[in-house]
Amino acid sequence: MTMLLNVKDLRAYYGKVQALHGLSFSLNEGSLTALLGANGAGKTTTLRAICNMVRFTGAIEFDGKPLVGRSIGKVARLGIAHIPQGRGALINMTVQENLQLGAITRKNKFQIGSDIERIYNYFPVLKRRHTQQAGTLSGGEQQMLTVARALMLRPRLMLLDEPTFGLAPLIVRDLFGILGKINREDKVSILVVEQNAQLALELVDQVYVIETGRIVMAGNAKDIAKDEEIRKSCPGS
Ligand code: ATP
Repeated sequence: MTMLLNVKDLRAYYGKVQALHGLSFSLNEGSLTALLGANGAGKTTTLRAICNMVRFTGAIEFDGKPLVGRSIGKVARLGIAHIPQGRGALINMTVQENLQLGAITRKNKFQIGSDIERIYNYFPVLKRRHTQQAGTLSGGEQQMLTVARALMLRPRLMLLDEPTFGLAPLIVRDLFGILGKINREDKVSILVVEQNAQLALELVDQVYVIETGRIVMAGNAKDIAKDEEIRKSCPGS
């Protein structure tokens, strides 16, 4: 298997506050991985470091290339889509306009129309509502729209920060089902931060658990699900 992302000895800082303390992990191409951990463990900071949004030391390589010193835009152009926490859809634009905007940095504009159609196959609800203002969608639909818009970048890796926050359990399953499909069919590697460890363990392949800025557990989701220790690191499990 090819390694896509390699993070080594990451130490991240907010001013004098150190949030990550020598965190290391790697992702294989094509993997669907969850990053679990309690509040404040450092999950968000890890994603921010990959996108160069926080000061850090250590090494991050994507597809063999160092990411250190690259701007947020450059990281995106290399094929990493970051979907931060919270509703990211542009509420005064329609669903379709949001998707078109997702392709704004793409040089080759030819396939944009067919990409939108392909993405609507993953999210039929967005297709039905394509002329609707994003602000009038439900919370779950807005979250789907932010994922759909990120796909317009044709990323190789998607970093999702708690996409299921505040969503009803049924919608959460729906969203994870779609992420699984995107992962298998479009071969997009996915790293998803999740508070609900129990659910994530059911729905992803690989898991990393963070505690106070370090990885304390790593492995196959099925094996980790059986491990008693997970309950200490992830209160929700
Ligand atoms: P949550 O699930 O609550 O989002 P998290 O695992 O994503 O938690 P981070 O947001 O990465 O955790 O926070 C890691 C640590 O860094 C925490 O101790 C937090 O208080 C600190 N921290 C995060 N953002 C800042 C900031 N802007 N300024 C100072 N400290 C911060």
